[in-house]
Amino acid sequence: MSVIELKDIMKTYQMGDSVVHALYHVNLKIEPGEFTSIMGPSGSGKSTMMNILGCLDRPTSGEYFLDGKEIAGYDDDELAHTRNAKIGFVFQNFNLLAKLTAQENVALPLVYAGVDEEERMERAKKALEAVGLGERLEHKPMEMSGGQRQRVAIARALINNPAIIMADEPTGNLDTKSSYEIMDIFKKMNESGKTVVMVTHEPDIAEQTKRILVMRDGQLVSDERSGGKTDYA
Ligand code: ADP
Ligand code: ADP
Repeated sequence: MSVIELKDIMKTYQMGDSVVHALYHVNLKIEPGEFTSIMGPSGSGKSTMMNILGCLDRPTSGEYFLDGKEIAGYDDDELAHTRNAKIGFVFQNFNLLAKLTAQENVALPLVYAGVDEEERMERAKKALEAVGLGERLEHKPMEMSGGQRQRVAIARALINNPAIIMADEPTGNLDTKSSYEIMDIFKKMNESGKTVVMVTHEPDIAEQTKRILVMRDGQLVSDERSGGKTDYA
């Protein structure tokens, strides 16, 4: 069973008299354990696609099966619950809280999950150790490099042990060396069984994933796996 299946998804915005199709008849299946990147020019629908895949937004029409369950009709609470249980998010700008230490930032999702403080701190410490930041538990975001901040964000995304990781331009603010270090962490996550989906503008980042989707004008126009390529256009 696919972990993600989109069937004829449309996302439409009304702009005055005109209609913008941010997503236009999108069909997509992502299998468990895939490592997929989404590319495409600015305005092609990548953010909209990530927002819908990540249950942050709902399509105008079409069906979205996440782990086999149709979620397009979920209300806000159901959507939030599904999101928290199944998906870890990584953002271009890290989205860390400036006043909290690395360990406190990583532990935050566990507060919402109702885990007690001792266990939260212990699990956050282990998660930071797993991304090579065992010596930076007490550091605040401002005291860390971009690559270190993104590793904190990845530890936070993993803390609930989600099956799916979604990342929006995760290397967009990083130098080349840090970008490759971050991609190595994503590769390890994927090897450990996680399904990873990321948006990127950078071809050399996309090439490190196992499947490259290309969007144009709200449609998927190419789907290339390490093995071969399907042109939809
Ligand atoms: P990308 O991430 O590839 O740059 P987006 O998903 O942000 O593309 O946008 C796809 C299209 O939908 C663009 O034409 C954009 O202007 C439009 N769009 C996205 N979000 C909105 C919105 N909230 N209101 C109106 N139009 C939007
Ligand atoms: P990205 O850098 O990922 O391409 P964008 O600049 O396209 O991001 O969009 C950033 C956010 O603004 C998105 O969440 C998108 O939904 C929203 N957005 C994009 N275009 C419009 C628009 N024309 N009107 C309102 N919101 C928009």
